[in-house]
This record gives sequence, structure tokens and C-alpha cells, in this order.
Amino acid sequence: MISFHHRIYTRAAKLSLAAIARVAACVLVCLLACSCAQHKLPEESALAITHVTLIDGTGAAPQPDMTVLLVRDRIAAITSSDAAADLPRHATIVDGRGKFLIPGLADMHVHLTGAGEPDGSRKFMIPLLLENGITSVRDMGGYLDSLLPLRREIEEGKRLGPRIYLAGPYLDGNPPAFQPALVVTNGAQASQDVHDLVRRGVDFIKVQSHLSRDVYFQIAAACKGEHISFVGHVPDRVTAAEASAVGQKSIEHLTCVLRACSANEPKLMREQFLAAAGKEKDVSSRTRQFDWAQELLQSFSEARAHALLQEFVANGTSQTPTLILLQEDSYRRGNLADMPDQRVKYVPRAVFDRWKKVALQDALAAQARDYPLRQELMEKSAHVVGEMQVAGVKILAGTDTAAPFVYPGFSLHDELALLVHAGLTPMQALQSATSRAAEFMGKSATQGTIEKGKVADLVLLDADPLADIQNTSRIRAVVVRGRLLDRAALDEMLSSVEKFAAAN
Ligand SMILES: [Zn+2]
Repeated sequence: MISFHHRIYTRAAKLSLAAIARVAACVLVCLLACSCAQHKLPEESALAITHVTLIDGTGAAPQPDMTVLLVRDRIAAITSSDAAADLPRHATIVDGRGKFLIPGLADMHVHLTGAGEPDGSRKFMIPLLLENGITSVRDMGGYLDSLLPLRREIEEGKRLGPRIYLAGPYLDGNPPAFQPALVVTNGAQASQDVHDLVRRGVDFIKVQSHLSRDVYFQIAAACKGEHISFVGHVPDRVTAAEASAVGQKSIEHLTCVLRACSANEPKLMREQFLAAAGKEKDVSSRTRQFDWAQELLQSFSEARAHALLQEFVANGTSQTPTLILLQEDSYRRGNLADMPDQRVKYVPRAVFDRWKKVALQDALAAQARDYPLRQELMEKSAHVVGEMQVAGVKILAGTDTAAPFVYPGFSLHDELALLVHAGLTPMQALQSATSRAAEFMGKSATQGTIEKGKVADLVLLDADPLADIQNTSRIRAVVVRGRLLDRAALDEMLSSVEKFAAAN
């Protein structure tokens, strides 16, 4: 196999006056577009990807034989390859013949500190995300003391990594579902916690499943007062329609969505708390959970689903289905031995041991009949996601990595395939991880598509992702903030993660 490395060469281009003028113009545009512009742009920072098929993320048809010129961390020019005869002298040229260029990907639901110690994310998750073409992440709950310095290191260029948008700790009821959490039990606390988090620099507030109704609505009001959005789980005691109406900006994992599509929603909601009050290992309680889930499926109403999706559209509520997480829950845990996964070698042993423990506990508690039911729940969820796309609900690609068996980086490609399985076109799936994600974060002026003046976050693929969405994982190179990571560099990152994983 020929390494991509060998296909990159520095071109000592003939430098005409016209070319100098063009370069100067590009540089000027770049300076104007770049708020953090510095005064001198060394030419060696120019990178041109030539003769490539461009899938720019706007939804436009692919454009064959294009040349994309990057200067520093910005897209300086996009032209057809015939018109781009003169490229900056000393520009690094990447021959994109037969390849496809897409915007850098965003995983809109990660937990960078979810796999353990802060250094773990630097040596394990961050390189795996980059290697998989992920140049932005939305961290949906984690330790600010680790995340803020990590984000700073990346922003200041001291470390290569994705752009990080973050929530910090969850706001949850008592007991909280996960750590790190701030337990909120009254309105005054809700205002104080939201205020404190805003001051610490979070981008949004994350709400969790165990919040009481009153406190949830108080958090919603506090967020409105602080002009910050809130996202997360729909708490068990709130309906999906209520969360949408009160302005929750995104709903994760379709929490409470299937319940809201049931003709028996109020009954199922009441019964949920009876089951929760039962003992975890109590057989009658597990039987009740099974019956509950079966009723959820049997009482599914297309009419109610349709009405709910209209609410989501009207209120601008986005959805991050994390189908990969639902799939892992449904299909894999019972038969861990049957699922040798090539990617295991990239997961630190201590992390993988925790994953196995979760799988084992689940397998011990589960009954044979649970698995087909879970698969049915997964398929019903996928069905609703397909209906969401048709109704015009905005769908975001997210994974919940590093939840058990949700492999950092790789899992986003699995999620894109599942979104296509649910009914999205490959283009729509791609947009859920590019332009949609940027729009959601309020960053479409600079990110999410391949357009002149935008940041140079790009992924070069060996095969057409619109022909087969699985091709998003056939990565030839990644560009993050204008910095090229060719296949050799990506392989190097993978092998260093493998070494780290073996020793930890
Ligand atoms: Zn999560």
C-alpha cells in the first residue's frame, strides 16, 4: 500500500506576478475573515488540495475536480482545478484525485472526562477523535477543572485537538444519575448554579433525568434569564412536549420521546416511578419493567408521534438520538464473547474492564426475552428518527462516547450509518455532523461547511460517502485548523494510543 505521505510534495511553483497578486488577495481575505489575524502569513503554511471532489456540507451536489487552498487556519480559495494553475510557492500540495473532501466532523455528544483521569482524554480520546476526522465536540457533562485547561491548550495551539463546547457538571435531582453533578432541589439553587456555571465559561447547561418538575422549570427560567441555552435528557417527570415548549434546545438519546408517542403516556409516566421505587434485583420489579416497555411499544401511536414532531419543529428543538448507544444497549451486552472488536486495542485496559463489568452485570440481570424487546425498542427509535427527518426536526450526530462499547471517534461513523439506516440520506447524515452541528452551536459563520473564509477543518476520504455512508471512515487525511494530518501521521497517532491503552 502506498503511503499518502509519499503523495505529498512541496511544489516549487513558477511564481508569476499574477500569482503573487492572487496570493496577496487570498491573504488579505484571510486576514479580514480571521478575527485572531496575525500580521505575517508565512507562505509555508499554505496547503492546497487539488483535483478533489468537494462535498461542501451545504447540501449542494458534489463538485468534481476542485482545488481548495488553505492559508494558515482558513479556507482561502475554492476554485475548479483548471482555474487554479498557479498556487502559492512552497504550498504543500495534496493530490486529491479520486478522493472526496468533506467538512471536519462534529460529535455532538461526548464525555471527554468520562473515561477516567484527565490525562486519559489527552492520550486516549483526543487522538482517537482526530484520527476519525472529528474536529469539534460538544462535551455533554464533565469535570470543568480538566476540560477548561484542555480547551485552552487546544485553543492556544499547544495541543492538537477538536474544538470543545462544554456544559461542565450536570444539573440533576437527588440522587444524581451520573457524576459530576450539581444536585438542585429548589429555585434559588437553580438560579445560583446556572449563574455560577455561566461565570465559569460553560457554553450551555445540561439537565439530567432525576430533576423534579418544579426545579426543571426553574432551571429553564434561570437559563432564559442568563441568556444561555439548556440541553440534555428530558427528566423522567417531565414530558418531551413540555421540555420542547419550555425551550430545551436539544433532547439527547430520545429521552422520553417514545413515551410521548404512546397513547398511554400519562399511565406509563406514573408507572415509571413505581418501578423506580422497586428494588433493582427484585424479580417482580424487573417483570414490571419488561411489561412497561412492552406496553410502550404496543401503545405507540403514529398520530401522537406526528403531533410531537410538529412541536419539535415549531419550537426548534433539535434531537441527538445517539442510536449507537441504543444499539450497544440492545444487541451487544448479552454476548460479549461473540463480539471481538478490532477497536478494543485502543481502549485503556482499565476502561475496558469497567465496560466489561457493566456488560457482565447486565447479562446476569437480563432475561432471554429482554434482548428481542430491546431490539424492538431500538428499531422503533430508529423509525421515529426517520420520521423526524421527514417532519423537519433538526438531527445532530452524537455518540455518548466513552459510554461502554461506544468507541471514541469510531463510533461517530457507526452513528452516521445508523442515521442512514433510520431513513436519512447519506447527505443528511453527513450534515448532521457538519453544517447542522455548526448551526446548532451558532458557529455557521465560520464552521460546518467548506466555504471561503471558514476555518480549515476538513476530512479527505478515499471513497464517496454519498454512495455509501460507511466511506466516511475511509480517511486519507484530516486537516484541523489548517494543520495537515496525513495517513502516516494518523497511523502514528493510532499506534501511540495503542501503546497507551496497553500500559493503562
Ligand atoms: Zn451523555
